[in-house]
Amino acid sequence: MNLHEYQAKRLFGEYGVPIPVGGDVATTPEEAHAIAAKIGGTVVVKAQVHIGGRGKAGGVKLAHSPEEAAEHAAAILGMDIKGLTVHKVLIDPGADIQKELYLAMLIDREERKPMIMASSEGGMDIEAVAHDTPEKIVIVHIDPEIGLQLHQGTYVASRIGLPKAQWKGFWKVLQGLWKCFTATDAVQCEINPLIVQSDGSFSAIDGKMIVDDNGLKLRHPEFEDLRDPGELTENEKKAAEAGVNYIQLDGNIGCMVNGAGLAMTSMDVIKLFGGEPANFLDIGGGAQAETVTQALNIILGDPKVEAVMINIFGGITRCDEVARGFIEAMDHIETDVPFVVRLEGTNAVEGRALLDAVDGLATAVTLQEAAQKAVALAKGA
Ligand code: GDP
Ligand code: MN
Repeated sequence: MNLHEYQAKRLFGEYGVPIPVGGDVATTPEEAHAIAAKIGGTVVVKAQVHIGGRGKAGGVKLAHSPEEAAEHAAAILGMDIKGLTVHKVLIDPGADIQKELYLAMLIDREERKPMIMASSEGGMDIEAVAHDTPEKIVIVHIDPEIGLQLHQGTYVASRIGLPKAQWKGFWKVLQGLWKCFTATDAVQCEINPLIVQSDGSFSAIDGKMIVDDNGLKLRHPEFEDLRDPGELTENEKKAAEAGVNYIQLDGNIGCMVNGAGLAMTSMDVIKLFGGEPANFLDIGGGAQAETVTQALNIILGDPKVEAVMINIFGGITRCDEVARGFIEAMDHIETDVPFVVRLEGTNAVEGRALLDAVDGLATAVTLQEAAQKAVALAKGA
């Protein structure tokens, strides 16, 4: 789950990373005015959307009075930044920027370790820095059993060119970020830029965090409040409620499959026969009739869907249970969209017998056959 800048910075602050003090979020120009008046002096008005490069897109503006802050808020609220609509702005005290650095902690999947990524070239698109001047990026892996070590902090501080007088302050930032990263089960904590102020102190004036979805339910139920409902489509919300893995795609063949691997394979075979999947949907193992109903509602909630392929391999999941769920679902769902169902594995014979009783339903024995039929149905055959 992605967090907004203001949420990420608040968490950074809780774990000891220095952040701008006194800012708050506004959803109207009036609120922006009030926050700016309370802060006093120069403030920065920042669009809160889950995308980088807001500055270049006009979503970060300095204001020298509460009136100007309200004007900027009025312009930024409702603005479209790379396809995302701005619903909130953060009003922070204007920063005293002497230098902009880049600092992040993230998981290196190849090394299977957390890593520090830092650069003297902050405030810019880090991918561009990595591409043009890779020598300006410092990477240090952290052994998760040992944790962050002082020598690693010293190494990074010196490699990004900080004078010795600032190493202690930098170490505080790094320790805070590491604590935040581990305590929140984050997969990414990024500060871009981490600024050095004229007195040599640090401040994280931008923040980005991604927390591990797998930790949300059991380890961090408190983060549920941080979820931006606007981030999910209606269908993704329904999927989260139903507990199925659903990813919307661009094609017109809806897929309902049990198991992530089988779902991927099903999508590949659809493509092989010239079709395009409308979604990835894994109803999981041991799915009950109710889950099947919910999954079908989700699939048919996508207006692009012109045919649906159901591919179930019964292991723990019983094919007759799925068939019953399908038949039950069809009692509640009004649709002209044609279906093709393939059942294999545990209780497949019983399942198929149930489906044979359904008028005009296409069934298939092999995955190839199912995919071919789905592609033909989607083309209006
Ligand atoms: P991003 O474009 O989405 O990464 O948003 P940032 O929060 O990183 O802001 C972009 C750039 O705006 C930063 O790199 C800074 O150069 C500048 N900026 C952000 N806040 C302030 C501020 O308070 N004062 C000044 N002078 N510049 C700022
Ligand atoms: Mn930034």
